[in-house]
Amino acid sequence: MGSRGDASDTLGTCPVCGRSLPAHARLVTYHGDGWPTLFAECADCDEIVHPR
Ligand SMILES: [Zn+2]
Repeated sequence: MGSRGDASDTLGTCPVCGRSLPAHARLVTYHGDGWPTLFAECADCDEIVHPR
């Protein structure tokens, strides 16, 4: 819980519009096959996206 491995305030970028997604946009994180899958809400798209 609360791992801060990457010293970054962003989750990644929106795959739709390319906007940088801030850490507070994070909705949920699933732990699948060995790596976390993260979903966030993009303020620009107003949709749930998968940051990359
Ligand atoms: Zn977007």
